[in-house]
Amino acid sequence: MSGNKLILMSCCAPCSCGAIKQLKDGKIPDIEDFIVMFFNPNIFPDTEYQKRLNEQIKYCENLGVKYVIGDYNHEDWKKHVKGLENEPERGARCSKCFAYRFCYATKYAKENGYNAIASVFGVSKHKDQNQVDKSAIESCDGVIYLPIKWNEQLRQQINHESDFYRQNYCGCEFSIRK
Ligand code: SF4
Repeated sequence: MSGNKLILMSCCAPCSCGAIKQLKDGKIPDIEDFIVMFFNPNIFPDTEYQKRLNEQIKYCENLGVKYVIGDYNHEDWKKHVKGLENEPERGARCSKCFAYRFCYATKYAKENGYNAIASVFGVSKHKDQNQVDKSAIESCDGVIYLPIKWNEQLRQQINHESDFYRQNYCGCEFSIRK
């Protein structure tokens, strides 16, 4: 049997725990293999980035799931969203931010034998899944984008049972709530 070789893009353990468990347990059809990608140069400051990364690694290692850590260059990311600093969450800056990350995953997929990409970027109540999907479709050139609807109940349950570090803002300095 053959299926998709998937990159699951993750922003943090609290958002990705349910999706990773579903994939690990074979609950998503037509997935032959998957890897979790943590590519989040949007996160500020670097101490916050490290906390989220550590939680992601711990969760993946506990489940015995493969993961890859992308480059962390926040200054490059800031150049990419320049001029959009004052946009609200769900606005134009976020579309560019998603696209930046999906483009990176697309390049990685082509270079490493993966043919499909999915993400958990839309699971938070502060996010717009349609916006995430649109950015992905426009960015995943030559790779399949799978707009998987993750099991929210499972995600909530794992969060309830875990002691994950939990942040109260999306990631960039422009999203820090006063
Ligand atoms: S609010 Fe979140 S998705 Fe939007 S630009 Fe900042 S880090 Fe990216």
